[in-house]
Amino acid sequence: MRFAPILLSSTLIASTLLAGRASANDDTEPTRIPDSAIAIAHDLRERALADDSGWKIVESLTTEIGPRLPGSEADARAVEWAKAKFAELGYDKVWTEPVTFPKWERRSESAQVLGAHAQPLVVTALGGSPGGTIEAEIVRFESLEALQAAPEGSLSGKIAFVDVHMERTRDGSGYGKASPVRGRGPSEAIRKGAIGYLMRSIGTSPNRVANTGITRFDEGLAPIPSAALSLPDADQLGRLLQRGPVRVRLALDCGWSGEYTSQNVIGEITGSERPEEMVVIASHLDSWDLGTGAIDDASGVGITMAAARLIGQLPERPKRTIRVIAFANEEQGLIGARQYTERHANEIANHVIAAESDFGSGRIYGISSGAPERAQGAIRQIAEVLAPLGIEHMPGKGGPGPDIIPLAQAGGAWAWLGQDGTQYFDLHHNADDTLDKVDPADIAHNVAAYAVFAYLAAQAEGDFGSGAATP
Ligand SMILES: [Zn+2]
Repeated sequence: MRFAPILLSSTLIASTLLAGRASANDDTEPTRIPDSAIAIAHDLRERALADDSGWKIVESLTTEIGPRLPGSEADARAVEWAKAKFAELGYDKVWTEPVTFPKWERRSESAQVLGAHAQPLVVTALGGSPGGTIEAEIVRFESLEALQAAPEGSLSGKIAFVDVHMERTRDGSGYGKASPVRGRGPSEAIRKGAIGYLMRSIGTSPNRVANTGITRFDEGLAPIPSAALSLPDADQLGRLLQRGPVRVRLALDCGWSGEYTSQNVIGEITGSERPEEMVVIASHLDSWDLGTGAIDDASGVGITMAAARLIGQLPERPKRTIRVIAFANEEQGLIGARQYTERHANEIANHVIAAESDFGSGRIYGISSGAPERAQGAIRQIAEVLAPLGIEHMPGKGGPGPDIIPLAQAGGAWAWLGQDGTQYFDLHHNADDTLDKVDPADIAHNVAAYAVFAYLAAQAEGDFGSGAATP
């Protein structure tokens, strides 16, 4: 399981992709969207705002399936649910493509402060962590760099505690800065001799909930039990350490067990004139197991399924095909997306443009694309139809969604519909990620934006620069 590149923040990858694409193929006709399509899109936008099918899909997935950890029995039920939902919504074609990966399981987890100030701590194992029960003194670090700077062996027999505060931002950039604490931290702690790893959750919630997420262990290192603390518990540990040494007991029952085959589930609204050319709108079907995966990413499933359904209900079919992909196992490393891109490596050019909804249910405030300059006029045309939704054209901002990164790296054109993520990390990967946090009007707003984007890209004369990436 190749983790390293996966944990690079999507924004970092996006900027490299953004720089690479702009200059290619600028000698052909500018891509343009016919006025007739623009008129239809204005109407489509208004109909979508009044439509609640997106929220109903989110309600169905989070209620009937609930948490969908990759490789769990719920993973298989979610695949069946998605196939049936696409069919129920009237998609022309529905199929699945297998995705195989090692299976990680969580069985139980707990932690306590031992000694004079004994008390429980709220923790959750990081994905990929081994199980084990350890009792040891904790050593606190204010940053990953401070841990990396600790002397060799200085943590022998101890638990490393990295206490980094994540910044609350609209665009989620605080996550990019903090996520190495989860991805790189355990390996750095092992190098210093630590027998366990604790970290302040990568999150912004004041509630006593801990945020899980995938970690990895560098080649050749013996993995150690690794877990995240709720923010209030991280603060509590910090205060206790000001009073003297602190010993903690961490008991995790979790780990890898065998291999599992899930499915990418795909639904299509077939194009009338160029059916082999596809506009892709995507989400991921899996979720972590602490909440019901309502904002991550049932919202994306509902938004994209409902958007294409509305396009399919138009009097005239779109010229290009609308392909809706519910990717498998995004959470453990874009696994479904990587295997999809490998499977479709010889038809990247037909993936005319792709966008993913995987940032919760917040409203969209910006649109951009890595398409070449000759196609940016068409993106501006799309932005004009989205303007009544409060969405601005933001060239140079954003990047491909997580599951679109493999496709973009293979040369596929991408679009970014940037959502307001100010509250996203209050719920991300923790037990509070439940349906009551999803506002139906926000979902309808997102459905309107995705329906307009996908429809107009399907009607565009000219392309967005997709083509096999030069190796
Ligand atoms: Zn997600």
